[in-house]
Amino acid sequence: MSNKRTEISELGEFGLIDHLNQRVKIKNTSSLKGIGDDAAVIDAVDHVKVVSTDLLLEGVHFDLAYAPLPHVGFKAVAVNVSDIAAMNAIPKQITVSIALSNRFSVEAVDALYSGINAACEHYGVDLVGGDTTASRSGLVISVTVIGEAKKEELSYRSGAQVNDILCVTGDLGAALVGLQILEREKQVFLSNPDMKPELEKYTIVTGRQLKPDARMDIIHELRELGVVPTSMMDISDGLASEIFHICKASGVGATIYEDKLPIDKQTFDTAVELNLDPITCVLNGGEDYELLFTIDQKDFAKLEKHPDIHFIGHITKAEEGKYLVTKSGTAVQIKAQGWKHF
Ligand code: ADP
Ligand code: MG
Repeated sequence: MSNKRTEISELGEFGLIDHLNQRVKIKNTSSLKGIGDDAAVIDAVDHVKVVSTDLLLEGVHFDLAYAPLPHVGFKAVAVNVSDIAAMNAIPKQITVSIALSNRFSVEAVDALYSGINAACEHYGVDLVGGDTTASRSGLVISVTVIGEAKKEELSYRSGAQVNDILCVTGDLGAALVGLQILEREKQVFLSNPDMKPELEKYTIVTGRQLKPDARMDIIHELRELGVVPTSMMDISDGLASEIFHICKASGVGATIYEDKLPIDKQTFDTAVELNLDPITCVLNGGEDYELLFTIDQKDFAKLEKHPDIHFIGHITKAEEGKYLVTKSGTAVQIKAQGWKHF
């Protein structure tokens, strides 16, 4: 070790992961896919296992001032299930590890687990283990999820081909706008505890922030329709950032169209109220946990009428770059800002 000190912020989250990955050598032939996708893929002879893990820290990923413990539990499971959905696989088991400070009672842990158990019911997964330890700084939750698929059903980030159609599910930007509202009302409450937070108007956006739903419904529908996305990932860091990941992994470019980007009316109106540009919220808002995927043009007819799948653009050659065509017809380069923790 030299005395050199490099700040983590110089590399950023993805730079740091690349840096760690450089020293990793895969030794087992059953490790089909390691670091670099939504989940790892492990050969299990007649099928594959997919594994993903996420770590959530109080004060960084959730704030108990406005996030009820059952919602925190549900979300901890949902965000992991979302990574399994992003591989086009079906989640089966989870493990849950928690670290608790003495601020938390048995009743509080029960509240957390009521959400975890509700999510297990909702997604049809079994809680099969975990770890429990003490913490000096609030609540920490780590969930690992194991899913299954047939090898040929998997959708990696690396499979997008030129002329494939780019699709997103649901609508985008709601979770970011919801977070801004929750933060605003928290500040109002802190400065005057007699004020009742005004949240009735914002239930869609705050709900999307507090209790997101992984799109397993779409994964089951794609199976029924016989469509395997050529590439897929979930939108946890913002659409622009995820488009960069798919383009990098697949060695392609992309063009998307502003007028095709899905945004809910409440998200749009609330963004305007907060002086945020709605399109920036759609492109750079995190935590929507919708799916971004590409399909071969031959599959378009099967999905064309789907009410919750939007066709936002297409894949181009890498040298054509990554562009957003605005409503006025101008092509602007997409920047991957994402929602950075560092
Ligand atoms: P997601 O947003 O889908 O949860 P991440 O951006 O967290 O994915 O991770 C991208 C990839 O890097 C995944 O393959 C993940 O397993 C891997 N990864 C993230 N952090 C680490 C780490 N500290 N050590 C090894 N692999 C990591
Ligand atoms: Mg993911």
